[in-house]
Amino acid sequence: MAKLAGKKKKYVTLMFVPHDEHQVYSLRISSITLLFLGFICLIAIGASSFIMTRHVNYELTRRANIQLTEKNAYFVQELARTHEAFQRVAKIEDELRAMLKMKNKNELLQFTGEGGPSPVDQVNLMKNLNNRATLTPNEFASSLTFLRKDAQEKIESYQELKKYIATQRSLLASTPADWPVRGWITSRFGMRNSPFFEGTTFHQGLDIANEEGTSIKAPADGVITYTGWEGGYGKLIVVDHGYGFSTRYGHCQRILVNIGQRVRRGQVIGFIGSTGRSTAPHLHYEIRTNGVPVDPLKYLKK
Ligand SMILES: [Zn+2]
Repeated sequence: MAKLAGKKKKYVTLMFVPHDEHQVYSLRISSITLLFLGFICLIAIGASSFIMTRHVNYELTRRANIQLTEKNAYFVQELARTHEAFQRVAKIEDELRAMLKMKNKNELLQFTGEGGPSPVDQVNLMKNLNNRATLTPNEFASSLTFLRKDAQEKIESYQELKKYIATQRSLLASTPADWPVRGWITSRFGMRNSPFFEGTTFHQGLDIANEEGTSIKAPADGVITYTGWEGGYGKLIVVDHGYGFSTRYGHCQRILVNIGQRVRRGQVIGFIGSTGRSTAPHLHYEIRTNGVPVDPLKYLKK
C-alpha cells in the first residue's frame, strides 16, 4: 500500500498483489472516502458491541431472575413448614388444655385482651402457601405478619399454661388433704348432742382420738397464724394455707411452732392432749374456707 499526495485532493491507492498471478490490482480512493469508510466501520463495531453487551446483560438478568424465583419458592416452602410446625404446637396446646380442663385459646385471648391472627388471615395464608410456588413482596409481608402474630399468641398461651400449672401445684400443696393425726373419729362435723350442755350444739370440726402425746402433722404447706390458749379449744394452733384455707388444732398437749413460722406438709406442729373443754385426749380438727368451718371429711383422703 502506498500513499500518493495530490496538491488539492489527497488520494490513497490500495494495491492487492495476488501471489500466484503477475498482475497487481490497485484501487485509488480519496482520503475523504477512506475517512468515511473508517467512520462506517467504527459505527458498525460500536453497534455490534452494544448489541452484544445488551445480550450479555439480558443473559445475566435472566439467570439472576431464575435464582430469585428459586429463592422465592424456597422461602414459600419454609413459610409453609413453619406454619405447619405452629399448627402442631397448637394441637399439643389444645391437648394440654383439655388435660388441664382449661379454657380454650379464644377464651384465653379474651381473658388476656390480646388479638391473635384472625381466621381470615389464616385462610389467606393457607391459600398462599398451598397453591403458589412464589409470593409477591406484599404476600410475603402479610404471611410473616400472620406467623409473628401466631407466635406471639402461642407465647402468651404457654405463659398462661405455665401460670395455671404453677397455681394448681401451689393450690394442691396448700389443700389440707392429709390426716393431721392417726386415730379414731369420736365426733363428726355438724349438729350433735353437747357433751357439756343440755340440748344440741354445732360441732365445727372433727374429733380424732389417740393417746396423749401423739404427733400432729401439718396436712398441707402453710404459715402459723395463732398459737396459745383459746377458751374451750384449750391449747390451739391455727395454720393459714393460702387460697382461703385455714386449719385449727384444739386441745393440744404441747405446741412446737410459733406465729409466723412456715410449715411444710407432714411437719410435726404439736401433740395430742386434752386441754380446754375436753373429756379425753383427742384432736379437735377444723378446716375453714374463707373463715367458714367446713366438713373436714370432704377434704381428707379416704
Ligand atoms: Zn371437737
